[in-house]
Amino acid sequence: MAFRREKFVPRGGPSGGDGGNGGSVYLEANLNDNTLLRYRYNREFKAARGRHGEGSNCTGHSGEDMILQVPVGTLAYDEHTGELIADLAEPGQRVLLAHGGRGGRGNQHFAKPWHRAPREHEEGFPGEERHLRLELKLLADAGLVGFPNAGKSTLISVISAARPKIANYPFTTLEPHLGVVNADGGTGKAGREIGRTFVVADLPGLIEGAHEGAGLGIRFLRHVERTRLLVHLIDTSDSNADDPVHSFEIIHGELAAFSESLTRKPMIVVATKLDATTDRTRLEALRDFCERRGLEFHSISAVSGEGVKELVRSIADTLDKIPRATPDATLEAQPAAVVQANTSRDHEPLRAAAKLDPSPGTAAEDENS
Ligand code: GDP
Ligand code: MG
Repeated sequence: MAFRREKFVPRGGPSGGDGGNGGSVYLEANLNDNTLLRYRYNREFKAARGRHGEGSNCTGHSGEDMILQVPVGTLAYDEHTGELIADLAEPGQRVLLAHGGRGGRGNQHFAKPWHRAPREHEEGFPGEERHLRLELKLLADAGLVGFPNAGKSTLISVISAARPKIANYPFTTLEPHLGVVNADGGTGKAGREIGRTFVVADLPGLIEGAHEGAGLGIRFLRHVERTRLLVHLIDTSDSNADDPVHSFEIIHGELAAFSESLTRKPMIVVATKLDATTDRTRLEALRDFCERRGLEFHSISAVSGEGVKELVRSIADTLDKIPRATPDATLEAQPAAVVQANTSRDHEPLRAAAKLDPSPGTAAEDENS
């Protein structure tokens, strides 16, 4: 509340400005974040308050909005009602979570011809407050398969922000890791101005007999089943004496034993650890084999970076050509997923895996895969 007081302006009238509006809180998806970790410890977020109105009809400053950054694939639920508030599937997508408060009106608004010196003014209106539950859902576009130690985890750590454990012994990776890959290189602020991206899944290694439960078994193939492309990594370096073509066929057999549909998926074959390969005969044998079968072939070194960029491009190119959901794949994916969920209920790694994908095999979800 204020009145204009000035020499030669008798009865200057009311001049109380309005209060500023409070800032709103938004949720925005970006590609730089890969997890919701920053919301684990810090759980309360407030946008700035609006400032008081001032004399001379000055409106108070509005509070700054607060924009909470989350990874692409984040779902926000209302904690109390369970209602889905936001499904942030695209980088840069922004959703209003809580509207900022509105500033009250100053006494200038209350003047009437019959009431010229109003002392009335309004209190501001409080902003919205909300309790949310954030959930991150990533569906992999491409799945890395291959023997343990083939270099899958190393590759995903090189091409994405995912940091699975890497070590020179089999079964270092016990649960699937997902990484978001930026195919064309540019990183814009908050994930905008970004080219093509895809999600790649690093899966625990398969071994011969996996479909009968050997090693970690094939329960993780449930995740591969919903990818659009398989990237099959084979170690052709000097330290691995196995015949790469034979290795390819063993893994292929395990995929087939899990589901026929897996063998029909597009596949890119990758010879890994090129930097540690002096004898290239096995690499060339694998290349010839792939040529005969009409499979795309790459050779890379995740350590030196050789061939990695080309591989990432070609994964993106291949994905561009594959539609997101093929109806028959959806149908076939269902029974297998259900059986998996029923048989290994008390298995810890599976539960961890299931978290990536809360309701396996529901039709609505499969459309996204
Ligand atoms: P995964 O079991 O398929 O996930 O294989 P890892 O990524 O854990 O790698 C197994 C071992 O191979 C680790 O000791 C890595 O350091 C090594 N490795 C992976 N990629 C390369 C590579 O490009 N060059 C070399 N020299 N070693 C590699
Ligand atoms: Mg691994």
